[in-house]
Amino acid sequence: MSIGWGFIGASTIAKQWMVAAVNAQDDQCVVALMSRNKERGIAFAQEYDIARAYQDIDDLLADPEVDAVYISTTNELHHEQVLAAAAAGKHVLCEKPLALNIADASKMVAACEEAGVVMGTNHHLRNAATHQAIRAQIESGVIGDVVAMRIFHAVHLPENLQTWRINKPQAGGGVILDIVVHDADTARFILGEDPIDVMAYEQHAGMGESIEDGSMVMMRMPSGALVQSHESFVVPFAGTGLEVHGTKGSLFAKGVMTQQSVGDIELVTEQGREAVTVTPHNLYEHSLKKFGEAVQGEGSPAVTGEDGIKSLAIALAVSRSAVEGVRVKVEYPEF
Ligand code: NDP
Repeated sequence: MSIGWGFIGASTIAKQWMVAAVNAQDDQCVVALMSRNKERGIAFAQEYDIARAYQDIDDLLADPEVDAVYISTTNELHHEQVLAAAAAGKHVLCEKPLALNIADASKMVAACEEAGVVMGTNHHLRNAATHQAIRAQIESGVIGDVVAMRIFHAVHLPENLQTWRINKPQAGGGVILDIVVHDADTARFILGEDPIDVMAYEQHAGMGESIEDGSMVMMRMPSGALVQSHESFVVPFAGTGLEVHGTKGSLFAKGVMTQQSVGDIELVTEQGREAVTVTPHNLYEHSLKKFGEAVQGEGSPAVTGEDGIKSLAIALAVSRSAVEGVRVKVEYPEF
């Protein structure tokens, strides 16, 4: 069975990554696009060779060639759009953060489950060959018991994205919902456990007009491991990366918190330093391959709806901790 995709939102990520990633699959194709702005939708569809452009989500959902939707609108719209897609019986790949609160995110996941459709969250990083290799190294026991993880995700928000992310809290802007959610998912994926509680600071370093543009976070894991992360919109030259430190060794990964399939990993143990070799693959193509398999009944998406709820729960706890200046327990709903 081939999968016809309907894209909801004529977004930057759809343009830069997702149309090409869908069309790179043997059995998937973008067949329709919906934009609230008619001219933008038509222009997008023409540029990317998409057969139909709609302005109304109901029209896109009524299109019989649309089997699945990819939702990359601003964050406050994801909730109602996922509910509509599930009601129409379409599989759903939704951008992060799934919603602005846990109640809405939980309803989205429940609606997809009740409708019997596949739901995935488009956290890209755990699709990276580097992140998968780091997890495999830890699982092999080569670094012993994990004691700590550090995530470096301070970047400069490109000018073309300095819109709702820096001036529209009601659209889910701010560095916490934008980047901390990814770091939370990364920590969960690499360490294989969910933070118990968090402590965090947020920062207003000059780019965010009404919202935070920087954060530093501490997460405490059930194993006792501590995770530290730094996120920013205003730091052009820090470079990204992550480190995992264990009782017998450490993993240093440089340049791996990115959309590109790049980065290097070094393992340091008593035996010395060695490069961990990785065969890179496109992160978004990997996500869509896994999603397509899940639609065919084989396995789950790379990141499920439940994973999306958890990364959101962590980000919301981070936000509360930063605002209230207290340690905050992460509240995960029952699944
Ligand atoms: P954009 O600002 O590019 O687009 C967001 C929405 O705004 C679009 O869906 C579109 O909706 C509308 N829009 C597009 N262009 C314009 C314009 N010129 N003027 C006004 N409105 C416009 O957002 P991003 O692509 O950066 O992010 C979209 C979603 O994807 C977010 O949820 C974000 O968190 C997520 N994201 C995920 C990434 C990942 O790697 N997983 C990376 C980047 C973003 P419409 O066409 O209906 O008007």
